[in-house]
Amino acid sequence: MNRFAASMQEHREELVRLDTAIGDGDHGTNMDRGMRKALEKLSAQEQTDPGMVLKTVAMALISSVGGAAGPLYGTLMLQMSTALAGKQEAGREDYAAAWRKGVEGVKARGKAELGDKTMVDALTPAVEALEQAPDLDAGLREAAIAAQRGMRDTIPLVARKGRASYLGERSRDHQDPGATSTYYLCQTAAEALAS
Ligand code: ADP
Ligand code: MG
Repeated sequence: MNRFAASMQEHREELVRLDTAIGDGDHGTNMDRGMRKALEKLSAQEQTDPGMVLKTVAMALISSVGGAAGPLYGTLMLQMSTALAGKQEAGREDYAAAWRKGVEGVKARGKAELGDKTMVDALTPAVEALEQAPDLDAGLREAAIAAQRGMRDTIPLVARKGRASYLGERSRDHQDPGATSTYYLCQTAAEALAS
C-alpha cells in the first residue's frame, strides 16, 4: 500500500492526462488523494494482518474518492479483505482466491465485463495469471505483466462503461485510465513482495 500510494503520486499527471482524453481528468488526483488518506488511516492503526490492511484502505477510498474508481477500488479491496479475514499469513492460493472475489465484486458493482474498456480489462488477466502460477512470487510478477498487457489492450477498444462510454467511437485509440492505475497496483504488489 505504501508503494501503491507512492506510485499514484508519481503517476498522477499521467493518469490525469489519460482521463482528460476520455473522461473528466480527475483519475490521477482521485487516486492520489484516496491513497494518501489510506496511508493516514493505516498509520493511525495497528494493522498487522492483510485483511485488516485491505479493509482500512477500502474504507478510505470509498469515503474520500468521489469518482467511480474510488468505490470500485474500494469494492475490490473490501471483497479481498473478507476473503483474507483472520489470516495472519497468505500464500498464492489465498491471494488468488481473494483477488478473484475482488474482481467479481468490481464486475458486479460496475456491471462491466472484459472488453468494456475499464479496470476490469487489467484485473481479469492479472487474476488469471495469479491463479495459474506455481507460487506467489511468480504469481505477482506474472499478474503485473498480464495487467500491463490488459491495459495496453484497452487502447483500440470503444468504452461501454463509465464516463468514456459517453464518447462512443471517440473513446477508441486511448488507453483507459483505470486499467492503467490497476497495472500500477499489480506492479507495486510484485515489487513489494520481491523486496
Ligand atoms: P470518474 O469516471 O467518475 O471520473 P475516475 O476518473 O476516478 O472516475 O475513474 C475512471 C475509471 O474508472 C475508468 O477509466 C474505468 O477504468 C473505471 N470505471 C468507470 N466506470 C466503471 C465501471 N462501471 N466498471 C468498472 N470500471 C469502471
Ligand atoms: Mg474521471
